[in-house]
Amino acid sequence: MSLQSADKSRLHNLGFPRIGARRELKFVQEAFWKGEIGEADLLATAAGLRQQNWQRQSGLDLIPVGDFSLYDQVLDMSFTLGNLPARVQGLDGSELDQFFRVARGRSANDSDCHCVHAGEMTKWFDTNYHYIVPEFSAETRFSLNPNRLLSHLEEARAQGHSAKPVLLGPVTYLLLGKAKDETQPLSLLAQLLPVYAELLKQLADKDVEWVQIDEPALVTELSPEWQAAYRTAYAVLANSGVKLLLTTYFGQLGENLDLACSLQVEGVHLDAINAGHEVETVKRRLGADQVLSLGVVNGRNIWKTDLNKVLDWLEPVARDLGERLWIAPSCSLLHVPVDLDSEQTLDAEVLSWLAFAQQKLDEIRVLHRALNEGRDAVAAELAENRCALNSRRSSPRVHNPAVQKAVAAIDVALGERQSPYLRRAALQRDKLNLPLYPTTTIGSFPQTQDIRKARLAFKRGELAAVEYETRMKQEIEFAVRQQEALGLDVLVHGEAERNDMVEYFGEQLDGYAFSQFGWVQSYGSRCVKPPILFGDISRPRAMTVAWSQYAQSLTDKPMKGMLTGPVTILNWSFVRDDQPRSISCQQLALAIREEVQDLERAGIDIIQIDEAALREGLPLRRSQWAEYLAWAVESFRITANGVADTTQIHTHMCYSEFNDIIEAIAHMDADVITIETSRSDMELLDVFDEFHYPNEIGPGVYDIHSPNIPPVEQMVKLMRLAAQRIPAERLWVNPDCGLKTRQWSEVIPALQNMVDAAKVLREAE
Ligand code: GLN
Ligand code: ZN
Repeated sequence: MSLQSADKSRLHNLGFPRIGARRELKFVQEAFWKGEIGEADLLATAAGLRQQNWQRQSGLDLIPVGDFSLYDQVLDMSFTLGNLPARVQGLDGSELDQFFRVARGRSANDSDCHCVHAGEMTKWFDTNYHYIVPEFSAETRFSLNPNRLLSHLEEARAQGHSAKPVLLGPVTYLLLGKAKDETQPLSLLAQLLPVYAELLKQLADKDVEWVQIDEPALVTELSPEWQAAYRTAYAVLANSGVKLLLTTYFGQLGENLDLACSLQVEGVHLDAINAGHEVETVKRRLGADQVLSLGVVNGRNIWKTDLNKVLDWLEPVARDLGERLWIAPSCSLLHVPVDLDSEQTLDAEVLSWLAFAQQKLDEIRVLHRALNEGRDAVAAELAENRCALNSRRSSPRVHNPAVQKAVAAIDVALGERQSPYLRRAALQRDKLNLPLYPTTTIGSFPQTQDIRKARLAFKRGELAAVEYETRMKQEIEFAVRQQEALGLDVLVHGEAERNDMVEYFGEQLDGYAFSQFGWVQSYGSRCVKPPILFGDISRPRAMTVAWSQYAQSLTDKPMKGMLTGPVTILNWSFVRDDQPRSISCQQLALAIREEVQDLERAGIDIIQIDEAALREGLPLRRSQWAEYLAWAVESFRITANGVADTTQIHTHMCYSEFNDIIEAIAHMDADVITIETSRSDMELLDVFDEFHYPNEIGPGVYDIHSPNIPPVEQMVKLMRLAAQRIPAERLWVNPDCGLKTRQWSEVIPALQNMVDAAKVLREAE
């Protein structure tokens, strides 16, 4: 049945990817920063992208405006609020110069002067997008600078679109920022709200009807003070002349549900993908003239929506709410690639299951028509959708009974080493015979132009497999000889053959697919192309053994096998929505476990399993951390712990916070963990010390992000600080992370100093 046209629900979007289907934005940003193009060219491309993006959204009742950014939308908001860090205030140049100075530490024109440190960057909620952290201090004064937003509004209207400005809301803005002094961000609220009020008034003066005000902090755990801030803020912003759509996403409102529904706004957007069970309650709590916008298409994954299933539950809601129901994707589409139509090489069957931003909007259009005109009006679309979903549900490429059986058979014993750490350590000491303060590196050596060229030629079919293999073996031999000459104790093969630590494994596992243009913005001009985990995971053959075995054959020193762990592979992929993440992780764990055991059989005595992204999977709410950590750590244990006591398992994590997860880290039970510490003066080790972390640790002593060569004394000093916290017998000496982004000319002297530092330390014992 269909609704009366007067009761029509509205269709809108929360945000669109700004990078362009072919990463056009990235290329002009980088050309501009290198001085190859001027500001006018950059701005022209940006305007062109906005135009295309709005075009792609045409037909929607409301189109987001202000979501486009030349770097980051949070930084845009800081500029709109006149909140520039003191260090760039007063520097000459245009507003764009200032903008890029905060974003990158320099403007395009700062060849040698005016370099300031860039704003800190951090993860946007639980996504892999990174925003520039707003900075606050006692000196912070807000002042309205609405020009960017107003000009985009005018631009969209001139192109015939009905625009809905998008703003990051005041409470989330303050919550995401950091004070550089003792200032409490919340204490700035009173000063901030008049600026928002003035902005809303100016939008009202331009006859803007609706403003989308993003408050994703409402899906996180908030202290009573922050909850109160919401009440204050939206009381002040009420009656501003525009209608506010309070927009929440990335999760459920939980204990903030009543709060969100009691704020003085004209509508609320709820992420019905993650908070489907809250729809009914929110619907009941909202006032009779408030709009409920439901995010019914997942803005975080690349799968087609089950449209019939959505309609089954959405139709009754639409009947109840009539024009008070709006529909949209669950969140901004910033987190998915632009357009599936660009894909030429993706397997046709897998392709038929996918939807990128453009296709997700098409889905919303179909749902909207079905609601307003009845399902018959879109019968063909719904049938096609059902057909694609059925094919995915029943495809043998997705469902592998052998893998499912293996997962079902997992028990705790699989994750257990034969003996406790102390016994293993003694056995490993006898076998490996390493000195005190053993030296090693984290895995990769410089990915030179030559290596990249060879890989590209091989991929394009211009270089035969045997020749490619020979080339990579030369690189491995070179890396081994360098390490021997430096006197390192535990060597690595250097990872020359790997493009990326996740893609390399994904390409060799069954159950993974790769897009050509499935780029998603990570930060600024940096984009990532997450592999697509679509099916049950299995490992048809060994993936790294031949390379490691070859490397070991070149030297008498121990050669570390080098793998990426299941949690990191999972967290850096687009994952399935038809089974829990934990199951996909277990499947990955079983596949990588086979690789670990094959390496061991091939005579590799030390195996490193990188888990750089373990922390990235932490849920937004702390109350859910324990559940995630339980299956994530268990997956690591399944991967790692099927080896003999004499085989030494290493893990590596290059993020810098262990305080709240130390128990989980200890439970991983890796014989050695290497971490990034060089920039924190070893303070990161405090928590390992306090926790009495029992196993060995390699705290990074060499900041690999910088081209500087760390002096011997500096590394000795850092290791002495480490030894105040961790007994020397359990310390390793290594860089913070892999060296693939460095040059050999930097790496050799730095590692020479590192090896010399270890000698100084040993002699002093
Ligand atoms: N083994 C990887 C490397 O050395 C680790 C990279 C990482 O932790 N991000 O490059
Ligand atoms: Zn690292």
